[in-house]
Amino acid sequence: MATTEPTVILKRCTDYDPERIERIASEGLQLMNLQPHGRTLVKPNVVASGELFPHSFTRPEFVEGVLRALRKAGNSLEELAVGERSGITVPTRFAFRHAGYYEMARRVGDIKLYHFDEETQVEIPLYHQGRLRNSFFTPEPVARADFFVNCPKFKAHPWTTVTFSMKNYIGIQDDRHRLIDHDHALNYKVADLQYITQPQFIITDGIIAGEGRMLTPLPYRLNLVAMGNNQVAFDAVCCHIIGVDPRTVDHIRLAHERGFGPIDLDQIRLEGDVSLDEMKEMASGFEVGLVRVEDYFKGTNIRAYSGPPPSDTDDYCWGGCPGALEEAIEILRVYDKATDEKLPPMHIVFGAYEGEIDARAGEKVVFMGDCATYRGTIGSKKVEIESLYRDRSTIDPETFKVDDIFVKMMKMEKLLLERRNEDVMRIAGCPVSVAEQVLMLVKLAKTKNPYFDPGQVIGFVSCYLSMRTRQALQRIFKQPYQRSGPTIRGAARPDQNRPGPEDDISLERN
Ligand code: SF4
Repeated sequence: MATTEPTVILKRCTDYDPERIERIASEGLQLMNLQPHGRTLVKPNVVASGELFPHSFTRPEFVEGVLRALRKAGNSLEELAVGERSGITVPTRFAFRHAGYYEMARRVGDIKLYHFDEETQVEIPLYHQGRLRNSFFTPEPVARADFFVNCPKFKAHPWTTVTFSMKNYIGIQDDRHRLIDHDHALNYKVADLQYITQPQFIITDGIIAGEGRMLTPLPYRLNLVAMGNNQVAFDAVCCHIIGVDPRTVDHIRLAHERGFGPIDLDQIRLEGDVSLDEMKEMASGFEVGLVRVEDYFKGTNIRAYSGPPPSDTDDYCWGGCPGALEEAIEILRVYDKATDEKLPPMHIVFGAYEGEIDARAGEKVVFMGDCATYRGTIGSKKVEIESLYRDRSTIDPETFKVDDIFVKMMKMEKLLLERRNEDVMRIAGCPVSVAEQVLMLVKLAKTKNPYFDPGQVIGFVSCYLSMRTRQALQRIFKQPYQRSGPTIRGAARPDQNRPGPEDDISLERN
């Protein structure tokens, strides 16, 4: 029988040797008495990948070791698979290719790779109090997994403080479902995603952790492989390692309050060959990068202004447009070292901002996102920007549309062309994604367009076409969507609002 006591194992590991990682993972599985079975699915973090984003993803050598250990410990495995939806607008095929996952899968042998953006999306009903909506869509392989392994990268996150185990769930949704509630409610969304399934085994790549940012983190050598059997306990221990109180991370606090697991260290069994204190020392000074947009751009030609989003509880949109601008500039800096010199002075305004906007004639003022509002004078002109924000309850996941990257490019091109002689403009969306903000900055600053990087463009287009073809075939020969039903398994239900896997869980909205 698997150990039910929330357990976190900290193991020292100084390199990406698949054999060493396999040994560590095997020990973890044994210590927690876990036996992979049936459809076993590993969910890494491959939000971005390749040599330009070397510290943003779970390394292939790491996943290789984990897969080998799972196979060895497995009992009646029907399938051993890896599945992910990489960053929005980037085909998962492209992310897998640059992460070296196809070669890794060949080395391990008989591994199925799921690209979640090409899979049937299954509706999972939600019943708990305080949920953002009544159901979620998730890719079929997640909904049907018998043994789910969460295999995140140990990283900071500029919007949700950290991206450990729970936050890695943002990649179990395709783009259009992922973008819904990806705003000031992002932490609530991550907490709600926990109702889809809970992992039986968690193992994180903290050998070289990612500091300060999400897509372009700075490398931080931690020499750590952490494992666990409870997602809240696991994330809480990882928070303690970097000196963050887990109660201050809303998605961890919410999941704890909803009964998913303990936060307090005296309720968590700690094992391993390195102590928590030693790990804390190792991580001392680790930066999470939770910086408001006004401060982030100090000293650059971008002046950012932010007012509150439409929320009763949050005075800043941590999960939406402001953070996306921070990630966008970092991506451009990766592709074009002269980005900051090329940026003309510009002003970017978020939320219901009421202060001065100190723009000179000829300087662009961009009101970013549906919730941006303004009433005042810029230069000598009176400016009134009305909110376009729609309450989240009016957004239907079945009809919500997200443009793909080439449509986004055309729309941004058109908008900036139409507004080329006007200083003030608005970019609509909730959120305005990282990709759209990259495209905007590319046009305004005339920097290199990452999507047309000569070293990547052919591969990108080929993966994009492959993805689109498979999506089209799937629409013809398979169902793009599936209602929930009795065969959909959920791994864990911490409260009584969610029926068990053996029950008929056909959707009942409440
Ligand atoms: S428009 Fe942007 S800033 Fe406003 S609520 Fe939506 S994501 Fe947040």
